This record gives sequence, structure tokens and C-alpha cells, in this order.
Amino acid sequence: MITSVKGTRDLLPPDTRVWNRVEAAARDVFALYGFDEIRTPVLESTELFVRSVGESSDIVHKEMYTFTDRGDRSVTLRPENTAGVARAYVEHSLAQAGRPWKLYYMGPQFRYERPQKGRYREFRQIGAEVLGDPTAVMDAEVIVMLFDFLGRLGFTGLSVSINSVGTEATRPAYVEAVRTFFSSNEKTLGEDDRRRLADNPLRVLDSKDPAVKQLVASETFPKMVDLLPTLDPASDAHHRELKALLVASKVTFKEDPLLVRGLDYYTRTVFEVTAEGLGAQNALLGGGRYDKLISDLGGPKTPGIGFAIGEDRLVDVLPEPFRKKALEGMRAIAVVPVGSADMPDAWGIARLLRGAGLPVDFHSGHRGVGQALKSAEKSGAVIAVLVGQEEGLRGTVVVKTLATRSQEELPREGLAAVLQARL
Ligand code: AMP
Repeated sequence: MITSVKGTRDLLPPDTRVWNRVEAAARDVFALYGFDEIRTPVLESTELFVRSVGESSDIVHKEMYTFTDRGDRSVTLRPENTAGVARAYVEHSLAQAGRPWKLYYMGPQFRYERPQKGRYREFRQIGAEVLGDPTAVMDAEVIVMLFDFLGRLGFTGLSVSINSVGTEATRPAYVEAVRTFFSSNEKTLGEDDRRRLADNPLRVLDSKDPAVKQLVASETFPKMVDLLPTLDPASDAHHRELKALLVASKVTFKEDPLLVRGLDYYTRTVFEVTAEGLGAQNALLGGGRYDKLISDLGGPKTPGIGFAIGEDRLVDVLPEPFRKKALEGMRAIAVVPVGSADMPDAWGIARLLRGAGLPVDFHSGHRGVGQALKSAEKSGAVIAVLVGQEEGLRGTVVVKTLATRSQEELPREGLAAVLQARL
């Protein structure tokens, strides 16, 4: 037997109904904020991720699905979608439109991680990006939009953790402060964290090692937001404006000076959203501002802000009422020919009903009417229309309510309207 590749999975009905409802809600809410969909290729040049996500990130360092194609190019299955969106923005000179671009995407992403509960090698993300607006207003708008979306799915107790990671002007000084701090505590660091310290000291903040976590949580650990007022007053003002806007929008937020997030391209705002009862682990989503990414990829200087939601996790923790509603199938009408000679007639009636907008579950009846009715009930039909020769002569069909097995003869004329009322 050939099975699916390790870390990937099939999404089967009826679960796909839930996924579709979640995606439909995202499309609805994002449209209210003026976002349009962008679809970028799953396959990109490896160089794109090395230059955007960053060489020292865990993703590029050890999680990418990279291979050489038949034309000897190094290509990678995208581990995230922001880089692809940024590449498309540059490639198609979208900056020339002279207005901000508000884009959303949804689709599969690939990371070669150790498969564990909730972590897959193929997973899906729903995300959005605003390109071309540097203001804190957009940071707030993106966060408020997210709250609306998650609210529509029924999540309650939503809260966003925010931090500012400064800009190029502040980053080197902060990285130095962090390096000095960890260097004077180097004995505490394991092999992985020492490598991170040498590569990029900020990565040590992502360490899962309890001893290192304790170090990071200590009072003396340097915090970017403390450096901003003196080193980078503009970023400090941006951060304060965002907080004021969140207060005005009645969005619950908390400041988390240790939130840096794993990607190299963030500048100023970074954030993560949590909901009641979810626990801090495995944040539902994360995002941030990236004012240098586009120019790093060879485009004009263009500010950006965006987020990515882990859709697998989102569906996993979805509030029950939304899931239940989504799982409810369509109440369908089964159309069953009584004998094989009745097939063309039954087929015509099925087409007529579907044409009137009614969902029809057509049965060939090749194993007899009894089997057809059983199978129809299992697939969720509530009414069966039996098409036979005798009734045909009278211009009628037999209509059976499957739950009670009660039946009556009804005229073919005006049948759709009568059935519609009974569904
Ligand atoms: P990131 O791009 O790392 O900020 O991830 C954004 C979101 O994607 C996370 O909060 C997760 O919910 C989700 N995610 C990342 N990696 C995986 C994975 N391997 N399997 C499932 N979900 C993932």
C-alpha cells in the first residue's frame, strides 16, 4: 500500500466542510477591509527564502524542502508566503500603482519539521499583507481585522501580544546588548544555543531550554522597548501610536518585550494573537512589520505589515458551534429510478430539480430501490423521489420522507416548489 508522505495528510469530507467555512469567513471579513486575494507559486527559488527569511533562521537552516530540479536550479517548496508575496510585488512593479496593496492568501506551506501533534510537514496558512503604508494605523487595522475574523469563528477572550523590534538603526545595538548578556552567561547555554549565539544572538530567545528561558525572563535581560526612546524615537512613537489605536479599538493587548519571532525580516511591530483556553504554546498566528524586506529583494523602499495564521491549528481549536454548523451537510433529495427503464425519466427529473436550485443525490438504483434508499439516507438525503412507469403515465412521482418512510404521490408539475418547501 502506498501511503501519504510522512508529515502530510489528507483532509477528507466532512472535515473539508469546516475548512471551507473557515476560508469563506476569512474571504468575507478580509473583503470588508478592502483586501484582495493573491496566489503565488508553491515552488520558489531557494535564494528567495535565504535572502528574506534569513540564513540563520531555523526555517532556512534546517526546515526547508529544497531540491535541484532537472534544469539544475535550486528550488524550495515555500515554508511561508510573505516572501513570495514580496517577490511578486517587486517582479510585477506593483509599487507603480501609487497606492497601498492589501493582499491575502491561503494555501499549503512546507517545513521539514519533526512531525508531532499539530505540527506537519505540509500545513496551511491564511495570511494577509499590506504593502506601501508605513503608519501604525495599518498595524492596528490588520490586528482589528484579525479580531473580527476570529470573532466570526466564535473565538472569545482574544488578546494580542505586541512588541517592537526596532529598525536597522537600533537592531545592532540591541543585538550587541543581547550578545553581551548571553556571553556572560555562556555556561548556561547548550550546544544549539551557542551556535545560535554565534550566528544571531536574538535566536537564543526562541530557545526551548528551561535554563535559558529562565535567563531570558530575568529582570536584567535587555529589552528593545527600553532602548527605543533614546536610540530610535521614531520607532518609539510608532509603538506608542499603535498602543493608543488598540486602546481606542477596544482590543485587549499586552506588551511582551521578549516577543521577537523567528524571521529575520521584521522591523518595529511584531505580534501574536491568543484566545481564551488555547494556552500560550503554539500561538494561533503571528505577524509583524517588515519595512526592509521589499528593498532587500531588489524592489523600491516599501513598508509592509502582515500576519500568518496556522490554519491546521485554527481548525483544530475551532469553537464547537462553528464546527457543528459547518459539518451539517446539505439536506438533499434522492432521485431513484424504480426500474432500469425509468433511468432517462429519473435523470430528467434530477436535472429539473437541480436547475431549480435543489441539491440532488442521484441513484442509479442498480442494486434495487431498497438499497438505493438506504444508501441515500446514509449520505444525508431527507426526501426520496421514486420515478416509476406507472406514475409516469399519470404525470406523477412517489415522494418518500426518509425518516418516517411515509410516502405520497405528487404531480410532476410544480414538483420543485413543493419539495423546496419540505427541505
Ligand atoms: P510562522 O510563519 O512560523 O510565524 O508560523 C505562523 C503559524 O503557522 C504558526 O503560529 C502555526 O500555527 C503555523 N505553523 C507553522 N509551522 C507549522 C507546522 N509545521 N505545522 C502546522 N502549523 C504550523
